[in-house]
Amino acid sequence: MDLALSVEQEAVRKLAEDFVAREVTPHVVAWDRAENVDRSIVKKLGGLGFLGLTVPEEYGGSGGDHLSYCLVTEELGRGDSSVRGIVSVSLGLVAKTIASWGSEEQKRQWLPLLTSGEAIGCFGLTEPGTGSDAGNLATRAVRDGGGYVISGTKTFITNGTWADVVLLFARTNDSPGHRGVSAFLVPADTPGLSRRTIHGKLGLRGQATAELVLEDVRIPASCLLGPEGKGFSIAMSALAKGRMSVAAGCVGIAQAALDAAVRYAGEREQFGKVIARHQLVQELLSDIAVDVDAARLLTWRVADLIDRGQDFATAASKAKLYASEAAVRCANNALQVFGGYGYIDEYPVGKLLRDARVMTLYEGTSQIQKLIIGRALTGVSAF
Ligand SMILES: Cc1cc2nc3c(=O)[nH]c(=O)nc-3n(C[C@H](O)[C@H](O)[C@H](O)COP(=O)(O)OP(=O)(O)OC[C@H]3O[C@@H](n4cnc5c(N)ncnc54)[C@H](O)[C@@H]3O)c2cc1C
Repeated sequence: MDLALSVEQEAVRKLAEDFVAREVTPHVVAWDRAENVDRSIVKKLGGLGFLGLTVPEEYGGSGGDHLSYCLVTEELGRGDSSVRGIVSVSLGLVAKTIASWGSEEQKRQWLPLLTSGEAIGCFGLTEPGTGSDAGNLATRAVRDGGGYVISGTKTFITNGTWADVVLLFARTNDSPGHRGVSAFLVPADTPGLSRRTIHGKLGLRGQATAELVLEDVRIPASCLLGPEGKGFSIAMSALAKGRMSVAAGCVGIAQAALDAAVRYAGEREQFGKVIARHQLVQELLSDIAVDVDAARLLTWRVADLIDRGQDFATAASKAKLYASEAAVRCANNALQVFGGYGYIDEYPVGKLLRDARVMTLYEGTSQIQKLIIGRALTGVSAF
């Protein structure tokens, strides 16, 4: 087994690292305080091919393997999770789902726009009444002549106010639970669709998180993605791959926590020596370092399974579960190394902890990941 990166993989990782140093790091604190990442970042991400990784070149994608996608996601997450999330959602949850499930016409309509950053996508699954139990969603799409009329509310939608297209999940019949759910590609400027920014988030403050309200939104039948009634399978297949991307972003947070803590421990002096010489500080640093390695290896395994065409869903849940919990632990340990200065936003570790915290919640909470892993072990579903 060879864990060394190929020349191409190292080149794409370095490209992302340099991009972050140039276009992201100088603005991180300002974007976080203003609760607003500069939207021009989207076209820059598209220009370097980061919004088209693993999407076939014939649809405007930049191709590449899933490990390269993880490497870019890790570097973006190391720089700013709000920026990383733009890619994980617009590429990971929306473009890749269109590439897998879309008609030829849908692929030609949306993929060149999404992969270039001319357009951005959001993933509309969660509702005020259904989060973990997404199959019970209440948004309805009613057949009307040659199309559908959709009404309902979606909440916590990443990229929500920026998006040009919503990958939206709605109920098309009264079958119980997930069986009646279908997926749609809804242009965000369709009359009847309104959006409201959700302010006051603990972390990911720069990210455009929104509530979407749909009131009699009329769309043609050509907006249906995949077969009617298959929406829940489409959502779950998107989230299974999405969990690898969240895990890679968490590795980025954990690595950033390690870098910052090691640097600070080598500079800060207490009791007449740098704090790195205190053994209990070394314990904090080594705990972070082991978590970084373990989270990265679990994440890379998912990429390897996908690229070899093997089953990856349970491995993705394990990676997401471990990496998200590890990111919280690592950022918290790093904050401890910084002492009181860690609590002030001029230093990076407080933001890392705030950004890490949501990773155990979205794309399936830690409890939901454990149920998925338990189901794979026992063959018995707790859902
Ligand atoms: C910043 C942010 C961005 C987001 N982005 C998106 C997005 O782009 N698109 C989107 O569709 N959604 C998005 N979400 C929503 C996110 O996926 C949900 O918040 C998540 O699925 C959890 O749902 P919930 O918040 O309703 O919690 P609930 O489902 O109400 O869960 C509450 C608690 O109960 C536990 N729980 C629930 N069911 C079980 C069970 N069966 N067994 C054990 N414990 C259980 C949970 O683990 C959790 O601890 C985002 C959320 C946030 C905060």
